[in-house]
Amino acid sequence: MSMCTLCKKREAVFMRPYSGERLCRRCFCKSIENKVRATISRYEMFQPDDKIMVGVSGGKDSVTLLHILTKIEKAFPDAPLCAVTVDEGIKGYRDEALKFAVENCRKLGIEHILTSFKQMYGYGLDEIVNMIQKKELTPCSYCGVLRRRALNTTAREAGVDKLATAHNLDDETQTMILNILHGDALRIARVKPVLTVVHPKLVPRVKPFCEVPEREVAFYAYLKKIEFQGVPCPYAGTALRNDVRTILNRLEEKHAGMKFTVFRSMERIRPALEAMAEEVKLRECKKCGEPTVGELCKPCQMLEKLSIA
Ligand code: SF4
Ligand code: ZN
Ligand code: ZN
Repeated sequence: MSMCTLCKKREAVFMRPYSGERLCRRCFCKSIENKVRATISRYEMFQPDDKIMVGVSGGKDSVTLLHILTKIEKAFPDAPLCAVTVDEGIKGYRDEALKFAVENCRKLGIEHILTSFKQMYGYGLDEIVNMIQKKELTPCSYCGVLRRRALNTTAREAGVDKLATAHNLDDETQTMILNILHGDALRIARVKPVLTVVHPKLVPRVKPFCEVPEREVAFYAYLKKIEFQGVPCPYAGTALRNDVRTILNRLEEKHAGMKFTVFRSMERIRPALEAMAEEVKLRECKKCGEPTVGELCKPCQMLEKLSIA
């Protein structure tokens, strides 16, 4: 490759098709860190003294986010950072990933809180999967709902101001398209960089990677020699999400910048969608007391189905 188009001093190692930039190792890493900084300030994700918790699964995105936020937050000594890992109980997968989460937090000197499905709900995901055989819900639907709850409860109990997750540009655009494919267009309004508080028991969630393509997170992790778990989850694979991922990647290859275009289009439509959607009033679940739309929250509904099974 030729010289870096930014510093014009070092050899380029990365080509960014959607901007035409060719970047050296140093300028590439800086560009990612600056992008994250810009996203944080653009969406006003953090206040200078916010206590931030990062959801760290042990995979590439979350571990890399932890590294970058640690770097950025050094400029804000009043903004302590901590991490949380939810062990869903997936044998041979999450137990392995957990080691990477623990090791990275230790290296970075970050307080690390561990929680698990077993501890919170009495069962790990592997056990749950055995109990839902031949039922309509997939392991991922259980996993997603129960993990979101576990993260929120842990963040609230730790008294943090913000919960940061590592969803990248690819995750976000996939979710937007998936909502359309599921006929759930109004839900697009809920895929956003900052989920503000709608109930005092919900910790605001932010996604500082939402404008960074997955490929660039991966290259940053590679250049910085960040260690993470690379094996895919045994339950992933058949989902419609994989098809959407493939289509978006093909489009991006042919028409550079397509993922950003989808993301920006949705940003523009969102205010109108939000205005259309009825404002939901959240109340407390009659069983567990957590915020919910109906009488019984989603995790309680799901867990109840299991006990009948
Ligand atoms: Fe959970 Fe599905 Fe992700 Fe596996 S792929 S960790 S089951 S959401
Ligand atoms: Zn350079
Ligand atoms: Zn409940």
